[in-house]
Amino acid sequence: MMELLGVDAALELILSRVQVLESEDVPIADAAGRVLTADARATVDLPPFASSAMDGFAVRAADTPGTMPVVERLAAGRPATRPLRAGEAMGIATGAVVPDGADAVIPLEYVVEHDNAIGIADAVEAGSHVRPQGGDVPSGAVVVAAHSRLGPAQIGAAAAAGAGVVQCTRRLRAAVVTTGTELRRPGEPLGPGQIYEANGAILTAALTGSGADVVAIPAVADDRELHRAALGTALEADLVVSSGGVSVGPHDLVRTVERELGVEEVFWRVAVKPGKPLAFGVRDRTLVFGLPGNPVSALVCFEVFVRPAVRALQGERDVGPRYLAGELVAHVRRNADRDEFVRARRRVENGRVLLEPVSGQESHMIARAAAADALVLSPRGEGSLAAGSSVRFLAL
Ligand code: AMP
Ligand code: MG
Repeated sequence: MMELLGVDAALELILSRVQVLESEDVPIADAAGRVLTADARATVDLPPFASSAMDGFAVRAADTPGTMPVVERLAAGRPATRPLRAGEAMGIATGAVVPDGADAVIPLEYVVEHDNAIGIADAVEAGSHVRPQGGDVPSGAVVVAAHSRLGPAQIGAAAAAGAGVVQCTRRLRAAVVTTGTELRRPGEPLGPGQIYEANGAILTAALTGSGADVVAIPAVADDRELHRAALGTALEADLVVSSGGVSVGPHDLVRTVERELGVEEVFWRVAVKPGKPLAFGVRDRTLVFGLPGNPVSALVCFEVFVRPAVRALQGERDVGPRYLAGELVAHVRRNADRDEFVRARRRVENGRVLLEPVSGQESHMIARAAAADALVLSPRGEGSLAAGSSVRFLAL
């Protein structure tokens, strides 16, 4: 038998076919989850002026300890009308401009106030409780680097630095096609031999969560013409993810029909469990994944092969799969020929991530997989991974 393509080799082939999506300007408020195609830079010093870190009084450190009159009260957004002179204090709120002439802020709780004057018992150090202008980043500095995905912190940094618009890849258009004459929509009554369609939900959820706009095509029966129509429509997207119909049975039509529609098959079958019949091809710039129909296979193939492709299309650099380190708490029998992704539950004990395989590891057992939050990589080979073995896993 011909040796099957390994997981890493398959990933390399996939990523070699990725063409990053075009760039567009996106208002910062709409950019959550997008990936930058250019550095986002500060348009101002951040903070833009020396500001108070506390509610208290702005003073000259040289005047402390001492007693001084409070000549103004400053709030955030309401700067002083004149500089602070020697021997004076100004009330100041967190975020207010530290007035010219002042070089320190003394917090309210260290001050005795009476008759519009304050007493300060101890010497205050120059600069204390003052946030210097540009102390976070200076104007022009990179606040979020190109190829970064914009999560809440990155959006916040770009916004704080005045970036009203950022350059990002456009949204990914993905099509999900599920195949199988036996599939019914959840909620409808099941006829003889029918099952509920799950992969459409899995793949749509995973793709939507990755920032894609998803067109989910209702399940298509195992019929050539219906496949042709559904896949033909799907191929207008940037990414096609189908499920089912990629094995060797007489009703497995996806690869044949895709070939007829002009898809160049890059590989078929990978040394992975579950997910061995995975097919991958391209038509022009469109990436075409044919995932096997068992729901756990679809889930695993998405995490291991499709998600990195999505990240790459969106312009990320470090696309994974992003393995983490953990420790098995039960032994796992290895598969001689295929790398296996074992569904497991993780918990942290004494700072160590412990991984407990869930019972029921067959590829149709999606309900068992739903109890898992990790995919443990069990590399192909003889024997078992003993309890206590160090392993790599993907977080679900
Ligand atoms: P296939 O890859 O088409 O041979 O399907 C493998 C197994 O997965 C069969 O038991 C199918 O009934 C099942 N299956 C295929 N597609 C789905 C789906 N979308 N949702 C749930 N089960 C599916
Ligand atoms: Mg099928």
